[in-house]
Amino acid sequence: MIHDASRTIELSRRSLFGLGAAIAATAVAGPVWARAPKLGTQSPYYYRFGFGETEVSVVSDGPLPLGDPSGAFLGVPKEEISVMLTRNFLDTKNVVLEQNIPIVNTGSKLIMFDTGMGTSQLFGPTTGRLGKSLAEAGIKPEDIDAIVCSHAHIDHIGGIVGTDGKPLFANAEIWLSEADFNFWTDEGKLGSNLKDFIVHARKNLLPVRDRIKFFKDGQEFLPGVTAIAAPGHTVGHTIFLISSSGRSFCFMGDLTHHQVLLLEKPAMEFAYDTDPKQSARTRIRLLGMLADKQIPVMSYHFPWPGFGNLARAGEGFRFYAEPMKMIRG
Ligand SMILES: [Zn+2]
Repeated sequence: MIHDASRTIELSRRSLFGLGAAIAATAVAGPVWARAPKLGTQSPYYYRFGFGETEVSVVSDGPLPLGDPSGAFLGVPKEEISVMLTRNFLDTKNVVLEQNIPIVNTGSKLIMFDTGMGTSQLFGPTTGRLGKSLAEAGIKPEDIDAIVCSHAHIDHIGGIVGTDGKPLFANAEIWLSEADFNFWTDEGKLGSNLKDFIVHARKNLLPVRDRIKFFKDGQEFLPGVTAIAAPGHTVGHTIFLISSSGRSFCFMGDLTHHQVLLLEKPAMEFAYDTDPKQSARTRIRLLGMLADKQIPVMSYHFPWPGFGNLARAGEGFRFYAEPMKMIRG
């Protein structure tokens, strides 16, 4: 038995040496490929969760790269913005915003908030994904009962019509502030530096003019959906409280565009604001209200999927992303 055991050890040694030789041979011969190729695919661009009695499906219109932050975030020295981004492990040369579109099924209505860039390639080819994301999420455009627009900027109203200029959501009424409708469809501004925005607002809003309804500040204009005026980013920019079973979350639209820059320093100005000073005042007031009341928030431009909570921090605020729940109870 003893003799046999020592033979076994000897054999094992030999096979180990053999293995080493094989590895050495492979190194000379070149790399060993995995049995499976790299897939190069990504998960579908939707996320679903329950809130009270509602079901929320967040779909994406795709990432929107703003480029160098110095072009968009104003009133704070360039170097300071770089430090803020670096400290948060973010690219200092290209600020990328998401476009998170919540679609809320209240049980009686299917309500979509904002619509993405549509056919416009003003910010490159990664936007305009809404149709694909809806299909991935199993939502048919004709089932949308209402589209609620936070404001009439190109990345929020751009997905209402298709390439042929025809409305994509056959059965949806469209809700917007009257102030934004009048401002952004105004033909008189076609000669100004707002031209691109005016062209796209007219292209998307005029074909559905007979289906557009205007909400008022403080009005519960759809069951469980209340408008809160948040002017400054645009004249009629509005955020929304979505309430169910005694709880609410806020769809913040463009109250803040960035999870670090316009939260840590909410007085910072944003290049696309119609009235940057009013926008900053509104941002500080409403972010404060949401943080103090601990109302969860859904942000259009925050990192995917954009749902979480706000808390006061230093001279500004901090966003705490809620972990995604990939298994539903
Ligand atoms: Zn926006």
